[in-house]
Amino acid sequence: MSAQTEIALKVTADRPPVRVFGEPVAPGLSIVPSVYADGRYGVGFLLAHEPSGCVLTAVPTCVHCARQAGARLAGFDWTRPAPQLITDQAVREAVTCSDLVTLLRGCASAYTCEIPEGC
Ligand SMILES: [Zn+2]
Repeated sequence: MSAQTEIALKVTADRPPVRVFGEPVAPGLSIVPSVYADGRYGVGFLLAHEPSGCVLTAVPTCVHCARQAGARLAGFDWTRPAPQLITDQAVREAVTCSDLVTLLRGCASAYTCEIPEGC
């Protein structure tokens, strides 16, 4: 898997996508920096569906927690179009499962989470 992939991230419905570089997790799924609609960086990282540019995780986390969340979701075929993924019950359950939500909410910000040595 390449080191980075370019993604047209949909930040708001009424503004053009923001082009960012993501860290691939699986084909079609990447970790991306949190950005505002004007392209400024926010705090933390999110998981994004590359084909649609949509963000999967509403809560930005540190990169360590984003990688953990990505690893839990890597087993699905994220190259499918968003409408197929939205109607896939297994994908919906994985994205909304309590363990994943707890992980994401537990990481209050990119500055307070403890990143393991070597990360
Ligand atoms: Zn974290």
